Amino acid sequence: DLGLDTEFMGQNIIQYDEVDSTNQLAKEQAENNAKEGTVVIAEKQVAAKGRVGRKFSSPKGGIWLSCILRPDLKPVLATRATYLSSLALAKTIAELTNLDPKIKWPNDVLLNGAKVSGILTEMGAELDQINYLIVGLGINANIDKKNLPVEVQDRATTLYHELGQKIDRIKFVQYLLKFIEESYRQINDFNALLEEWKKYAYTIGKKVVVSSARNKISGIAIDIAEDGALILEVDGQEKKVYSGDVSLRHQ
Ligand code: ATP
Repeated sequence: DLGLDTEFMGQNIIQYDEVDSTNQLAKEQAENNAKEGTVVIAEKQVAAKGRVGRKFSSPKGGIWLSCILRPDLKPVLATRATYLSSLALAKTIAELTNLDPKIKWPNDVLLNGAKVSGILTEMGAELDQINYLIVGLGINANIDKKNLPVEVQDRATTLYHELGQKIDRIKFVQYLLKFIEESYRQINDFNALLEEWKKYAYTIGKKVVVSSARNKISGIAIDIAEDGALILEVDGQEKKVYSGDVSLRHQ
């Protein structure tokens, strides 16, 4: 029992020691009609993925969980789930530690410029309606940095590395799910959600390079649009970029 202070988020919780991917299991649950708020959590993932099929390393000591949401939204607005979960995660870190979390658009939470977590939102939709969203959150919690893959060590960090001590993972999950539930209630009021999100935004006001399989554009990130796109100023003109298939680098 995690002693959750939520109405529905995590009230149905499925715990594992080791899984391939919590997102994958949550998707199977969702397709078998698991109720909204169902959470799949594991001690360790061995085949977790980030965006665009990249590998996401998930050793023991971290927090690896996926939530099932069933918002009454058009599929094009699914990206709101990424905003609400990155916000909830940043708030949890700010609430429980003296660290200063920042969100790199669209989905990474950073501590001192290094990535402490990854978020992957996946969708099941029918016709023009969302059937379910899977919000996967991976947090490098009580992990020694040297247990992360060498190739990510220079841009990743862990809470343990930043704090010099272990955190209470149960308490962390309690707050995280509570904040996710709170922000989820605002999903129809994206402006309110965004206003809060922007307090933690790292990307806004910065020079960035956004690349997709097809092209690469550089500009200054100036704002987030109503539809969740990042607005860039490129040679004096505004351009919108969508998170689906792009990768962003700060310059
Ligand atoms: P990027 O992190 O490259 O800016 P992204 O936000 O699209 O892009 P994700 O899809 O969230 O990335 O995660 C995949 C990437 O995260 C991997 O390519 C790897 O560089 C990095 N990574 C993998 N495991 C971890 C981890 N445990 N902590 C931090 N970063 C990781």
